[in-house]
Amino acid sequence: MMSVNQEQYKKIIVDLESRGVSLVAVSKTKPANEILELYQLGHRDFGENYVQELVDKQSQLPPDIKWHFIGHLQSNKAKYIIPFVHLIQGIDSFKLLKEIDKQAGKISRTIDVLLQVHIAEEETKFGLDETELEQVITSAADLKHVRIRGLMGMASFTENMDQVRSEFRFLKSLFDREAYWDLLSMGMSADYETAIQEGSNMVRIGSLLFGSRP
Ligand SMILES: *Cc1c(COP(=O)(O)O)cnc(C)c1O
Repeated sequence: MMSVNQEQYKKIIVDLESRGVSLVAVSKTKPANEILELYQLGHRDFGENYVQELVDKQSQLPPDIKWHFIGHLQSNKAKYIIPFVHLIQGIDSFKLLKEIDKQAGKISRTIDVLLQVHIAEEETKFGLDETELEQVITSAADLKHVRIRGLMGMASFTENMDQVRSEFRFLKSLFDREAYWDLLSMGMSADYETAIQEGSNMVRIGSLLFGSRP
């Protein structure tokens, strides 16, 4: 059984802080006690991919944890996380954004979100293309209970780092079009160094901290 690599965490957090990059510790499939281990080292930002798992963990863990939803969110499940979620990173349709706005309005919250762009070559990954991105931004102008803070993307699963780099560079170029955006979430365990070199200011790291997943 692997558990939290505390030494690795300390090294990574010092390095990222010195470069102005924030760390979302991706804890999907990992038990609450492992999250608590990083919490006790001072960490507060955690990322989860599944609604039910997130709701369960949130109810067991300290209330000042900042929960990032980084998975594919179905519109009909948004209401379960709206009361407490800190940042929803995977907005890939206007329908979803509208539903979040509606549910957030009911409890007078405004939810910070990132729009997810499809930058990888794999079809399996979620996200908007460039045209859809423009459409969502335009349509979102009327929504009062969501605040678009920037973009999120996942590069191709490949060892070809030139390709990964060019995908991140493309996402950064889209990010730079909106002057008021401040969060660019790109980079995971295998490619976060490249992502930061290409302008990321938020990385989502799981397996490097918690060990590999089943
Ligand atoms: C699982 C996941 C991560 C973390 O991946 P690692 O390779 O374990 O660092 C980051 N982002 C998203 C969207 C994920 O689904």
